[in-house]
Amino acid sequence: MAIVWPCPLPVDAYAAAGRQAWFPRPDCPSCAGRMVFWSGYRRHVRVAGRCRKIFVPRLRCGRCRVTHALLPAFVLAWRLDLAEVIGAVLAEVAGGACGVRPAAARAGVPYTTARGWARRFEARGPGLGVAFAALAVDLGGDAVRPAADAGRFALAAIAAAYDAAAGLPGWLAVGAWRFASSVSGGRLITANITSPWLITGRRRFMPPVPPLPA
Ligand SMILES: [Zn+2]
Repeated sequence: MAIVWPCPLPVDAYAAAGRQAWFPRPDCPSCAGRMVFWSGYRRHVRVAGRCRKIFVPRLRCGRCRVTHALLPAFVLAWRLDLAEVIGAVLAEVAGGACGVRPAAARAGVPYTTARGWARRFEARGPGLGVAFAALAVDLGGDAVRPAADAGRFALAAIAAAYDAAAGLPGWLAVGAWRFASSVSGGRLITANITSPWLITGRRRFMPPVPPLPA
């Protein structure tokens, strides 16, 4: 399982730091036991049309003997593009500001890629909306009522949850889409809609910790 942490670093700084970047060490998401760093791997992210390699550490739970990848919040699971880039396209398309083609052009991503994000987001909209609306209330934020349009409901709920979270230390610097990535375990636009994150996932709601200055 991947754990997404609310990394506030610019992607360039994170990529340049490699293994030397600051990483949090959360407890095991299964048993809350202590975990230790356990090697890691490199993966690509696309930044302004260019692929960069980033280091993703793994953590291993001594009790479960299971390893978990520790993803920075600027990535989404199985996506090459940044959470902010994907989020900008979703906000424009699902928000009704424009169609997929101009949004894709502005983001500098292929049309078919952007169309895939928008479709998945729309399909997941009702579930995302309910989960983020619940989180918003949980954090003392505004209640968001379900809207006829699933994508708009999800966008409004994410915005309300982020507004509420931004009152807590650290989240404002992380930004709305890294926040959404963090609390969804990077699964904002994955096919799996059964993940119990957000609701049972308080322990995954990891507070942002400012990395030490380089
Ligand atoms: Zn464990």
